[in-house]
Amino acid sequence: MSNRTISIDDRLYRYLLEHSLRETPEMRALRETTATLARAHMQISPEQGQFMALLVELTGARRIIEIGTFTGYSALCMARAMPPDGELVCCDVSTEWTAVGIPFWERAGVRERIDLRIAPAVDTLDTLIAVGGSGTFDMAFVDADKEASLDYYERCLQLLRPGGLVMFDNTLWSGSVADPADQDADTIALRELNRTLHADQRVSISLVPIGDGLTLARKR
Ligand code: CA
Repeated sequence: MSNRTISIDDRLYRYLLEHSLRETPEMRALRETTATLARAHMQISPEQGQFMALLVELTGARRIIEIGTFTGYSALCMARAMPPDGELVCCDVSTEWTAVGIPFWERAGVRERIDLRIAPAVDTLDTLIAVGGSGTFDMAFVDADKEASLDYYERCLQLLRPGGLVMFDNTLWSGSVADPADQDADTIALRELNRTLHADQRVSISLVPIGDGLTLARKR
């Protein structure tokens, strides 16, 4: 099959990184620090971070919401790509994990662009809506508890302006979404998200097979 997405083996993946990845010392240091931690698999891949940063540049996003910040690599990628007066609202429930990233945000000179909110993301999103934030955001990145994906989706849609972009991470879930034998709660939730996005005419979509699958949905 030639007209399909290429399979990437280790050799080709190394080539892709060697010929496209541009990481600053802070980005690399944060990624390598995170790689030593217990939940390192939750960090996005560096080429995905670079892709998301390019999307920030392409859309000129000035206001972004991130749901699920973990140790802050994706936030660092996006914040660097924003203008100096940009605002990135980061939602996470863990002070422990997010504390890992803060020194790297500072070293990169983007700490002031990041508004870190330690609380359940639904609460933070509802607060943003309550204070008049609907229609004022340019972009959202959703990478948190998968069972709440649709709750996050509806709130992000409301907070985004028309033409705004919401990105969902892990939509291929290591291939599990296509394995009927996998009935794990997260897998079921991601299948439901994928089904919903596919049918939802309020957005234009593309499921990009980068990292663990990144679905882009542009609010119409
Ligand atoms: Ca993820």
